[in-house]
Amino acid sequence: MSSNEDPRDDLSVTPPKTWATGLPAVTHALEYSLGQTSVRRTALTLLNINQAKGIDCPGCAWPEPAPGKRHMNEYCENGAKHINDEATSRRVTADFFREHSIAELDGKSDYWLNQQGRLTEPMVKRPGATHYEPIGWDEAFGLLARELKALASPDEALFYVSGRLNNEAAFLLQLFARAYGTNNLPDCSNLCHESSGRAMQETLGTGKGSVSLDDIHHSDLIFVVGQNPGTNHPRMLSALEETKRNGGQVVAVNTLPEAGLMRFKHPQKPRGVIGRGTTIADQFLHIRAGGDLALFQALNLMLLEAEDAAPGTVLDHDFIRTHTTGFADFAEHTRKVSWEHILEATGLSREEIQAVHDRVLQSRKVIVCWAMGLTQHKHGVPTIREVVNFLMLRGNIGRPGAGVCPVRGHSNVQGDRTMGVWEQMPQRFLDALEREFGFTPPTRHGLDAVNGIRAMHEDRAKVFLGVAGNFVRATPDSAVTEEAMRKCRLTAHISTKLNRSHTVCGDTALILPTLGRSDRDVQATGEQFITVEDSMSEVHASRGKLPPASPDLLSEVAIISRLARTTLGSTPPLPWEDFEADYGTVRDRISRVVPGFDDFNSRVAEPGGFRLPNPVNSGVFPTPSGKAVFTCNAFTMPDVPKGHLLLQTLRSHDQWNTIPYAPNDRYRGIHNARRVVLVNPADLAALDIADRDEVDLVSIWRDGTERRAENFRVVGYPTSPGSAASYYPETNVLVPLDSVADFSNCPTSKGVVVRLEPARTPG
Ligand code: SF4
Repeated sequence: MSSNEDPRDDLSVTPPKTWATGLPAVTHALEYSLGQTSVRRTALTLLNINQAKGIDCPGCAWPEPAPGKRHMNEYCENGAKHINDEATSRRVTADFFREHSIAELDGKSDYWLNQQGRLTEPMVKRPGATHYEPIGWDEAFGLLARELKALASPDEALFYVSGRLNNEAAFLLQLFARAYGTNNLPDCSNLCHESSGRAMQETLGTGKGSVSLDDIHHSDLIFVVGQNPGTNHPRMLSALEETKRNGGQVVAVNTLPEAGLMRFKHPQKPRGVIGRGTTIADQFLHIRAGGDLALFQALNLMLLEAEDAAPGTVLDHDFIRTHTTGFADFAEHTRKVSWEHILEATGLSREEIQAVHDRVLQSRKVIVCWAMGLTQHKHGVPTIREVVNFLMLRGNIGRPGAGVCPVRGHSNVQGDRTMGVWEQMPQRFLDALEREFGFTPPTRHGLDAVNGIRAMHEDRAKVFLGVAGNFVRATPDSAVTEEAMRKCRLTAHISTKLNRSHTVCGDTALILPTLGRSDRDVQATGEQFITVEDSMSEVHASRGKLPPASPDLLSEVAIISRLARTTLGSTPPLPWEDFEADYGTVRDRISRVVPGFDDFNSRVAEPGGFRLPNPVNSGVFPTPSGKAVFTCNAFTMPDVPKGHLLLQTLRSHDQWNTIPYAPNDRYRGIHNARRVVLVNPADLAALDIADRDEVDLVSIWRDGTERRAENFRVVGYPTSPGSAASYYPETNVLVPLDSVADFSNCPTSKGVVVRLEPARTPG
């Protein structure tokens, strides 16, 4: 398909795959890469991606093995696609914007916009204009600074960060926002793993996972819950393969039997190319959507009962006594959970749960991994708290081969938080900023992503700066979000490629094009590198290798530094020019503000960098009581009226976050269409809907409002009974802004109540 065609909706369906990766993954990765750029550039990116002195993959946050143990092809199909999507030879120039009005661009698909290539120079849309036009960098900074300074309060500005942003730029952005006077630093983590951070902070005193890659390799039993590693963290499959080869077991818990959970063919090993590959899941629990809390309550109940039957042999009393509080209340609460409720909520049989329980009893070292399938439910926080209860019962926290493992989806989403991009950074971080930089940061908590949309919608926020990402398509309630963005006085995006957030814009809009991960970054003192932190708290360097996509690009560090200097002048007096000229000076500051980064510059210069300490691995739980906390978690079934289904929004395999790379979902057997809804055949029969019928998806919300996504084809698919699945961002329109997880404000994109109606205007 050429870059100037929008994909035609021409659905064909083949049986879902029963294994992931293998040679087809290599073929697809190369096909996509060579469609974007030359053989030479493809070779350069692929030889360097995830290597010790190379380019960190801009894809997910799965860690690499230690430098000596890395394969020369240490990447997956998606990693290869991401890096060459960025390294594309296609360019979006001023002529392109002269040719296409914003309204016309707004009518194009996400796929088409992305396929146009790299942005090359700063552009502005002036009030009332129909097109973007070129603008010089200084004028762009002046315009943005004027708008920021004209606001009645700094809290009328939002500074959004997506997980591609590197540590140095993230640190400077939060420094700028706080020096300017606001904590309004929403990020993409608000939309995905906020429930994880919230639950773990409360129970363990730290919002990060506790395990390393080595722990994964040497665990006895790994749960993979609400997660689809074959598509979203593909190299996790080689880690799980290693677990299996070392004698460990895997239990997969999901609403869909994803190919990557079943069997993996390692494309770099002969057994993966010519053999049958490795079975990943020893047991697959085809759970009901949102049933995970009940599952872990059941396992906890069984562990308590097993301990009753054989006192002193099941629970880790030493760990519980020494390191935790709240056990007695938790045990009393858990003993009241009814099996009737568990079986209804999970849709599993008692025998299936008993079989998992038996595996747990045989395992000394247990890890639970999870992703959005847990976090994006109304009870996402209680579910993860229950996972922590489960692990603590047998002391599976803080010892080798055991622990909590929230798997992050974007390369530096964890690092951005570490650097202070959060609307609620603790006072000790703000105090450290004050000590280092000599100004008093604001203490009032800022707005997260959902509250930021509300604020823009209600005219309480008027300037939006997005760094990386595609805010308009990553967020829920698309119609409301788009209205909110259009109400802004000014929207500005620091971006590498064109996306919908540039076409849904404020009165004035700026596109500030920046270097990608793969671009060489040369500043006044010479060539620079940036750093990132992966899902397992490994901090390492990334060095671009390609000539920048255009001579008019600035790095993110340079853009933020110059904007800060233009906006703030010398109040407070911060050395923005030095930061831009030498990123080492930023790292020096980080080392004095952010715990765990002592001697940052020299430690990160080591191949592979260093791992940030996680206190729980030293038996330290930084909660108010100094102990890990058992919790009592209530659960009510989502209210799904008769004739309705619980919809989860998800990615296709041929997609990266909000951007489809092709209109396919190869592993699930969906081709040439994205407006597709997967529904269990038994539900289709009960609803009297036939396979391939054209329907509108209508979500209902408790205030009586309905939201509609039109013209979807129904495909019978083994989703768990009562649930449906469909791709985002097309279905984000169905997720009400007010439908959020308790305690974390994370959109409930995995639990949207919908009904399927015959299409109002069949296509
Ligand atoms: S697993 Fe994630 S980080 Fe690794 S190559 Fe694939 S997308 Fe990139």
